[in-house]
Amino acid sequence: MTSFVDLKFINKVSSQLERFKEKKKYLFNFRCPYCGDSKKSKWKSRGYFYRVKVDMFYKCFNCGVGTNLANFLKKIDHNIYKEYVVEKFQGNTKQLKNTSKFDFRPTKFVDKNILDDLKKISDLNNNHPARRYLTKRKIPEGFLDKLYLCDNWQKWVNKVKPGVLNVQHPNNEVPRLIIPFFDTNDDVFAFQGRAFGKELPKYMTIKLDENKQKIFGLERINLHEKVYIVEGPLDSLFLPNSLAAAGSDLDLRIRPENQVYIFDNEPRNKEIVARMYKCIDSNNNIVVWPNDVKEKDINEMVISGKNIAQIRDIISKNIYNKLSALTKLNNWKRC
Ligand SMILES: [Zn+2]
Repeated sequence: MTSFVDLKFINKVSSQLERFKEKKKYLFNFRCPYCGDSKKSKWKSRGYFYRVKVDMFYKCFNCGVGTNLANFLKKIDHNIYKEYVVEKFQGNTKQLKNTSKFDFRPTKFVDKNILDDLKKISDLNNNHPARRYLTKRKIPEGFLDKLYLCDNWQKWVNKVKPGVLNVQHPNNEVPRLIIPFFDTNDDVFAFQGRAFGKELPKYMTIKLDENKQKIFGLERINLHEKVYIVEGPLDSLFLPNSLAAAGSDLDLRIRPENQVYIFDNEPRNKEIVARMYKCIDSNNNIVVWPNDVKEKDINEMVISGKNIAQIRDIISKNIYNKLSALTKLNNWKRC
């Protein structure tokens, strides 16, 4: 006996489930149709199909609803439900009733955490070069347990996502700083490897879940307050309510007036300037750094001695949109 019939019907009903995805074999995740999951966050999905012996069950970790697949289908689509009953029980609904006496104890369904093989920076002693590197960059202590050290980038990447770094290269057989991207459920869906030395590329971002946008900081963001969007994950650690978009265009589905884009201070970088224009086109707020700021990003400003309050002050005084943003940008760019 297998869950073949159950899987077939999960597949059938999946198009009606929001953010549906297969997490691994016999484990599916999507937004809970009973409670709607979270009204505030479109990202939250806490409903799961999971397997117990030969049958699939449903559990929501938000509202706590737990039921067998038959009852779940009955709620979502009555026709699919009727087909299911015929196929699974050959019309024998007595048997179906018995299966509903299942004990739905919450289970944690986290995939084996890819970070288990790595060392947290906060666990390294103060003299360890990786820890010293972050101290030198003045990264706030409180974040050191969210950053990791990988001793051999090539080996580790090929283990957690085979096929990404196929070409053996001495530049890859080295340690890197691992910056994990967590989703709102605290699951890692991507990570960035930052070189400690001169290896190129300096940053490599690898997605484990191709359906997700490369956004760093989702687990600590409040989308109801003003969100600051910077380029680099490490820069975002210095600002409250801040995300890093890791160089990609992002769609947060929040009102433009609630988001402020902060690009690196690189007026000669054509790519950045083009993205700033695009941002203004979409009616977003952007920061145009004043001329007396010479450092090229927030972390450099911190390293050069500016304190967080000073940086926040510069940011708040230099937010522009629409025509004023265009004027400022035209004067600022050097390319
Ligand atoms: Zn629910």
